Amino acid sequence: QTSLDIATIRKDFPILNRKVNGQPLVYLDNAATSQTPQQVIDVIVEYYQGYNANIHRGVHSLSQEATDAYEVARKKIQAHFNIAKSQEVIFTSGTTHGINLVATGFTSFLQKGDEVIVSAMEHHSNIVPWQMLCERTGATLKVIPMNVEGELIMEEYHKLLSEKTKLVFCNHVSNALGTINPIEEIIEAAHKVSASVLIDGAQAAAHIKPDLQALDVDFYVVSAHKMCGPTGVGMLYGKEEWLKKLPPYQGGGEMIAEVTFEKTTYADLPHKFEAGTPNICGGIAFGAALDYMNSIGFEAIAQYEDELMHYATEQLLSIEGLRIYGNAKHKTSVISFNIEGIHPYDIGTILDKLGIAVRTGHHCAQPIMDFYKIPGTVRASFSFYNTREEVDKLVEGVKRAKSMLE
Ligand code: PMP
Repeated sequence: QTSLDIATIRKDFPILNRKVNGQPLVYLDNAATSQTPQQVIDVIVEYYQGYNANIHRGVHSLSQEATDAYEVARKKIQAHFNIAKSQEVIFTSGTTHGINLVATGFTSFLQKGDEVIVSAMEHHSNIVPWQMLCERTGATLKVIPMNVEGELIMEEYHKLLSEKTKLVFCNHVSNALGTINPIEEIIEAAHKVSASVLIDGAQAAAHIKPDLQALDVDFYVVSAHKMCGPTGVGMLYGKEEWLKKLPPYQGGGEMIAEVTFEKTTYADLPHKFEAGTPNICGGIAFGAALDYMNSIGFEAIAQYEDELMHYATEQLLSIEGLRIYGNAKHKTSVISFNIEGIHPYDIGTILDKLGIAVRTGHHCAQPIMDFYKIPGTVRASFSFYNTREEVDKLVEGVKRAKSMLE
């Protein structure tokens, strides 16, 4: 049984009090975006009420206060992910931005004959930027296959690796299946052939607190909005040696050392990759979101979410004709399912009428849907503020949808 006081935790999330279609909201779309606690909302309001100003440029007090708060947030992110140096923390607009920054930066480091490896269970944002990179450079994209349980076939991964491999990219946790991938093994094996690794932590970071120095990963990307923070902000971690080598992604203010029309020199890290006015308030709120989650504790969060997922799995499987996709040994917080003969969209629509928010569709992971030969799934994804009663409502709702649609 969990040590968390869920009733008290739920009071931190004002949105959980609202009704949807006349019913109390049951929010089970946490893998798409998590909800925001009052503690983080307060930080956002305090910023706009008290010290909204541009950073790193004004001598005036407000600008200094905003700059200080933004840099404190960077340090919180550094500490949370156990990153060696604060200049290795690059603020981005989210995971997609971080991946595109790295994929674009690698253009001058790849050539025809080189190979890059992706996993079969990626979000489109960890596929498309690399395909674009391959188009620019002539490098070849190889895919680590998966099995029907939704696990990567690691023997095949090891076979794909060679001296031609320059880069490997993989998610830490699959947003469509919930699989926790063996990233330690993936990173270690890639490094043996001198390939670099980018891990997409978008889906993992709300459930697992990764130690990036211990992982020895080259790049790790996350979005704040999946972990109790606001949208439009995220982190790219890069090893300093790589961030020094990669060219800037965007040109503009803040990322320069000196500009003349003949030549521009670039600012030091992290500013080299932070052109223009960033999401200042978002960055500060990201720091507050990490404080909030750490005050609850990631071990307790993971344990409770596991309990919820197993309970929901058991209950859902009692429904005849219901199939869950992905049954990995290591899995977290996501259940993707279908009922035989019923379109996932129809189930999602009926659940919405009951106030239950789930995601339906391909979850930006079409290759996974192709693998299972389905158009999409219904996905329920859990957070630490969800309850067993909400799982019961989901199960009841699915049963009701089934009886209406059959
Ligand atoms: N990768 C994974 C595994 C994700 O779940 C998501 C968000 N669904 C992304 C990448 C993209 O994140 P964002 O839209 O915040 O850039």
